[in-house]
Amino acid sequence: MSDKYDVIVIGAGPGGYVAAIKAAQLGLKTACVEYWTSAEGKQVLGGTCLNVGCIPSKALLEVSHKYEEASEHFAEQGIEAQGVEINIAKMMERKSGIVNQLTGGIAQLFKANGVTSIHGRGRLLANRQVEVTDGDGKVTVYEAENVIIATGSTPVEIPPAPLKEGFIVDSEGALEFDEVPKRLGVIGAGVIGLELGSVWARLGSEVTILEAQDTFLPAVDQQVAKDALKQFKKQGLNINLKARVTGTSVKRNLVYVNYEDTKGEQELKVDKLIVAVGRRPNTDNLLEADTGVNLDERGFIFVDENCQTNAPGVWAVGDVVRGPMLAHKASEEGVMVAERIAGHKPQVNYDCIPSVIYTAPEVAWVGKSEEQLKSEGEAYKVGTFPFAANGRAMAANAASGLVKIIADEKTDRILGFHVSGPQASEIVAQGVIAMEFGSTAEDLALTCFAHPTLSESVHEAALGVNGGAIHIANRRKKK
Ligand code: FAD
Ligand code: AMP
Repeated sequence: MSDKYDVIVIGAGPGGYVAAIKAAQLGLKTACVEYWTSAEGKQVLGGTCLNVGCIPSKALLEVSHKYEEASEHFAEQGIEAQGVEINIAKMMERKSGIVNQLTGGIAQLFKANGVTSIHGRGRLLANRQVEVTDGDGKVTVYEAENVIIATGSTPVEIPPAPLKEGFIVDSEGALEFDEVPKRLGVIGAGVIGLELGSVWARLGSEVTILEAQDTFLPAVDQQVAKDALKQFKKQGLNINLKARVTGTSVKRNLVYVNYEDTKGEQELKVDKLIVAVGRRPNTDNLLEADTGVNLDERGFIFVDENCQTNAPGVWAVGDVVRGPMLAHKASEEGVMVAERIAGHKPQVNYDCIPSVIYTAPEVAWVGKSEEQLKSEGEAYKVGTFPFAANGRAMAANAASGLVKIIADEKTDRILGFHVSGPQASEIVAQGVIAMEFGSTAEDLALTCFAHPTLSESVHEAALGVNGGAIHIANRRKKK
């Protein structure tokens, strides 16, 4: 038996590392167990988000966006740029540099806050003991007053498309291509499939996305989703709905993808295929039989609204528990749990967690969609404003998409805030703040927004909720 801690966190992704730092800041003796190992055998912190998720994908999205802008859209703005070329090796080197800087930063934060880093695979035993097996197979057991499980998630594999190195890859492999595939297939038109498909389409791939469902982005407000789909198609992303992949094979350096759509059996021939059909929680070999921690019916660790498991003193946060698989949701939960262990009583406001798809246009939302409110039988009113009527968006050559604000018919309280368009990921924060403060549409309408900004579309949409928009004809009559 080794040292006893107030808190041991298993997993150093955005759920785990944030929980560990917060716990240490609150005066708790804290350790964080992480098994991710670099090619040099060193421990790597930061989890999926920093290493193979949010950060590297955004590094590639930013570069590919600039490349596409330079090669396709500079001329229409009066910029003559000849011979624009993409250097994939350099783009990847830059991406790795950003990842290394950020993951190294977490190691420094652990040091600065007094978090002990333990390198190895953690497993929860009964009575809040954590067994850690290091790279050489050496096993050490640690004791803790509280254990926070933050082991994250892994890409789902499907039987019709088993991974094959260099040909059929998951999201991790899709961040590592060393050349632009001439033809690229993507299974799954979810957030990850759309983002990774966009990266390679912008760099020149002919991209086909196959999606089994008949609705595009069913979790997104459908007015916004349909608007975005139109833009994606215009950009050349070939998105096929009602297309279920049934088999794949690799022959003579090509991937053959069999799928069924409304017309029957189809075959797609591509150079590479990305499987982006969702993620599953990491719970394999994590829990000894007698820990008292239960899983839910979908295999996630079962927790209450405060991330407490069935076992006293054992908590779980992030992708390994119910709710959206988002880095900021994981971090919010991490902070809440650390605070609760320290005796405070904060809660996560699950109604105010924004979601973003970093495509062009970006798609971002918080709160409820029209479809959700309809199915719940809630009375609501809507204000929308298109970026096509926004001067700043025109100046930026990005005048597509819209802001849509949905408010309660009677109280005027904002229930949903949806954006597709330039900087939607930043603009949505205004909706999050408004909803967190319980704002009405009128509160936003009475706020002064700088001119000319993309955010003026938020102002106009808020004005439009009650029929008072200035720069667009109002559909609703002012009361
Ligand atoms: P993870 O980040 O998965 O971290 C879990 C950690 O636990 C890992 O480091 C793992 O090695 C470690 N671990 C697991 N088991 C053990 C064990 N037994 N012992 C020790 N260590 C263990 N989210 C966003 O919010 N915005 C985005 O833009 C975004 N983009 C994404 C793009 C891609 C391509 C992908 C794949 C994901 C993206 N996500 C994004 C999702 C985001 O990465 C996850 O929601 C987030 O990382 C979850 O954090 P977590 O701490 O729960 O788990
Ligand atoms: P997400 O979970 O948001 O990352 O999205 C994954 C998407 O993959 C979902 O929309 C699924 O419908 C889709 N999907 C899963 N299996 C298949 C399949 N065999 N063929 C096509 N699409 C699939």
